[in-house]
Amino acid sequence: MTAELDRIAPVIDSLGEAFARAGHELALVGGPVRDAMLGRPHNDLDFTTSARPEETEKILRTWGEALWDMGRDFGTIGTRKGPWQVEVTTYRSEAYSADSRKPTVAYGTSLADDLVRRDFTVNAMAVRLPGREVVDLYGGVVDLATRVLRTPSTPEESFSDDPLRMMRAARFAAQLGFEVAPEVVAAMKDMAGRIEIISAERVRDELVKLICAPYPRRGLTLLVETGLAELVLPELTALRMERDEHNRHKDVYEHTLTVLEQSIDQEERLGGGPDFVSRFAALMHDVGKPRTRKFHDDGTVSFHHHDVVGAKMTRKRMKALRFSNDEIDAVSKLVELHLRFHGYGDGDWTDSAVRRYVRDAGDQLTRLHVLTRADCTTRNKRKADRLARTYDNLEARIERISEEEELAALRPALDGNQIMSLLGISPGREVGAAYKFLMELRLDEGVLSEDEAAKRLLAWWDERTER
Ligand code: ATP
Ligand code: MG
Repeated sequence: MTAELDRIAPVIDSLGEAFARAGHELALVGGPVRDAMLGRPHNDLDFTTSARPEETEKILRTWGEALWDMGRDFGTIGTRKGPWQVEVTTYRSEAYSADSRKPTVAYGTSLADDLVRRDFTVNAMAVRLPGREVVDLYGGVVDLATRVLRTPSTPEESFSDDPLRMMRAARFAAQLGFEVAPEVVAAMKDMAGRIEIISAERVRDELVKLICAPYPRRGLTLLVETGLAELVLPELTALRMERDEHNRHKDVYEHTLTVLEQSIDQEERLGGGPDFVSRFAALMHDVGKPRTRKFHDDGTVSFHHHDVVGAKMTRKRMKALRFSNDEIDAVSKLVELHLRFHGYGDGDWTDSAVRRYVRDAGDQLTRLHVLTRADCTTRNKRKADRLARTYDNLEARIERISEEEELAALRPALDGNQIMSLLGISPGREVGAAYKFLMELRLDEGVLSEDEAAKRLLAWWDERTER
């Protein structure tokens, strides 16, 4: 705690003095206090103050480097000072009305009032400035030491003021690896339905943080067990299909969590940090299974087209959660392609099939490698090793063909202008059809010279116009 406070001392002490000179209280609060006690460095510094936003703005204007007031309506003014992002919020006492999506903001009058409306005791500690007096009115230090999430007021009061806090409980469990207190879990179960008044965007933001956390399994398990997942991500809950009487197919839910963890283990390949698209694709890859499951007379079970069905379901869910089109396209493409490799057998694909795999994966190719490898959760070591070796083989072939053909920029030998002048036609559907023909040729046969491509195109055109 002291080591981290010493590190941020230059900034917190000088800001504390600036507010004191103007006759206002100031305290470091929330995340940075919690993380200082955990010995984790934090460059986003949140403060709370008795000053009103106009007064805060005046002080920050001379003290800070660049000012922003995006959160002014909520009483927050932000600034930067060197590497530090600073946000100062006026004391609040806010509450939601039972049916409203927006918090009603009321300014509070004391630090104690401000702290009691915070989500968890470990987030409800403050350090008064200057002077660094620690304020811990709700047992946050003890909860931090015993690694438990508890609400400052009763969980029922807290969640009815802001139901998003139920999602935040799961998010912090996933980020910190803490337990959620039993009475808090009980309130989450009772009140899960209240999450429906929260906007999709706020739910999405918590879900993204949860999934990108170090222990997503912990957070997801809580969402499923409390019934919150049923409302915000029902596809996940549905994976807990009852098994058939002979236990013949694996528990898809448990399999999914393992695939998620196995894809996290490969994130080095994707740049190192948490990769939301890759993680969410792992979570959604089998969501088409419950809906496509069929039991057959010979005792087997099948999930025909669960990749395509799952991709559609993924798209729909991500749209409802207001994800960007780029994220939706990326994740649903991965879900749709996650099975393709299983047609590869022992390396039976033609070069044409390999080119198509690369073309269809497009800019998601590396994530597809990660997902496909992660999707093997068999306990049979020989089988797992064989699959890994086969995928090594596919990746090696992709690399070889890429070196020869610049697969990354796959396009036909002739462009639209060349097609039009060769065939003597103007822009329209025919040009598109010709382009498609040449692209298929490119995929099937690899690089062709322009002369050869022109010859083949003319032959195709003759046959087409004869009909
Ligand atoms: P992070 O490292 O993700 O920024 P954080 O603890 O700073 O973690 P924020 O979402 O930035 O989390 O919120 C800052 C602080 O504001 C929290 O620590 C908490 O005290 C308070 N807070 C934020 N959202 C809520 C909420 N919905 N209800 C109650 N308190 C909240
Ligand atoms: Mg924060």
